[in-house]
Amino acid sequence: MNIPVEPFRIKTVERIRQTTREEREAYLKEAGLNVFAVPSESIFVDLLTDSGTSAMSDQQWGGLLTGDEAYAGSRSFYRFEAAIRDITGFPQVIPTHQGRVAENLLFSTICRPGITIPNNTHFDTTHANVAANGADALNLPVPEALHPETEHPFKGNMNLEALEKVLTERKGSIPLVAMTVTNNSAGGQPVSMENIKATSQICRKHGVPFFFDCARYAENCWFIHEREAGYKNKKVIDIAREMFSYADGCWMSAKKDALVNIGGFLAMKDEKLAQTLRNKLILIEGFPTYGGLAGRDLEAIAIGLYEGLDEDYLKYRTEQVRYLGEMLMAGGVPLVKPIGGHAVFIDALAFCPHIPQSEFPGVALTVALYREAGIRAVEIGSMMFAEKDPKTGKVEYPPLDLVRLAIPRRVYTNTHMAYVADAIVAVYKNRDKLRGLRLTYEAPMLRHFTARLEEV
Ligand SMILES: *Cc1c(COP(=O)(O)O)cnc(C)c1O
Repeated sequence: MNIPVEPFRIKTVERIRQTTREEREAYLKEAGLNVFAVPSESIFVDLLTDSGTSAMSDQQWGGLLTGDEAYAGSRSFYRFEAAIRDITGFPQVIPTHQGRVAENLLFSTICRPGITIPNNTHFDTTHANVAANGADALNLPVPEALHPETEHPFKGNMNLEALEKVLTERKGSIPLVAMTVTNNSAGGQPVSMENIKATSQICRKHGVPFFFDCARYAENCWFIHEREAGYKNKKVIDIAREMFSYADGCWMSAKKDALVNIGGFLAMKDEKLAQTLRNKLILIEGFPTYGGLAGRDLEAIAIGLYEGLDEDYLKYRTEQVRYLGEMLMAGGVPLVKPIGGHAVFIDALAFCPHIPQSEFPGVALTVALYREAGIRAVEIGSMMFAEKDPKTGKVEYPPLDLVRLAIPRRVYTNTHMAYVADAIVAVYKNRDKLRGLRLTYEAPMLRHFTARLEEV
């Protein structure tokens, strides 16, 4: 196995503490067996999310000190704007304090009942922002995306035939086609340049603008560099420039590939649309040269965007995620394949086939990982997505019950990955002992955050 080597050395450390099993039992009891309610101080390796959890570099920390906090026309804004223009080529740049605000500004402007927004797969906040404005958030993944076992180099691709069909059938009611890179909700799987180009051509033919939801665009470009013919000798930043050249705009949660703890933006060609969005921005975020961020945050994003495209970093980043995945596969743990860019997804239905979906096998696994090893993961399955028919009371379960191990960027060492793999393989060997769960409390919406459970 290749050991992925970190292309950095450590200058500042943050202590993490392993708890005793008794302490963890007490925390679990207190939390109603919901790891969202366990305090982070009692977690040894936290793989809940890769969002806003990156470690910043010495350059970025330096940028925090040199950030310009002027209310209007901050020097840090101009650096931020120049970085985004350089990478995306889009002249209109609008800062926001995170990705979902960019989505809120955009979709509250272009969506209303009767409108459809197609996407390879909407991320949950994207879906919510489209739906909250009465529009239809339509997912058009390729069929391979729904099969965890199927290997495909670009499982995040848009289903082109389905897109062509919907653009024809719903003519006049589609203000924009979106594409999520990498495809977060479908396992962090990348989209090929060929698919991006073809999507762009279909959009142009129908006269519909094409936007990227580009939280993990750098990881996507790395996969293009690695896997797609003709890109081996291209620099990743040039692959990114080519990718953006096929689109009309984008929005980004900078909490992912820009290697910062908070931030986001919109960028586009259309000056008139940008003006409308800026007027809204002033109402909800702030003046157009800071948009809900401090000058120092803009500075850190401007630096982080380039660090996120660094090839040594991207090689290590994707190799570290794959390293964890390969150790788990060697131990027999069933995973979504191939291993994605930012996370490893465990197939909980295959992991514990003795637990029915009505007893939350994914959540049961997150409980076991915390109980055994102080590891926090997140369920993406029946707790998050099961829907009850309000009339019949019949529950509709999602096709997959997954547990996501999201890897924060530049935070954990490969030894941490080996520790996590070891612990999960040990739980897998004793998987018969995992017990199903039943709810003792559930909120009417987004219940996974606050649910309380007990073992059956
Ligand atoms: C994280 C994310 C968002 C939302 O961004 P926030 O910064 O969390 O508000 C939107 N789209 C994708 C693909 C994401 O990964």
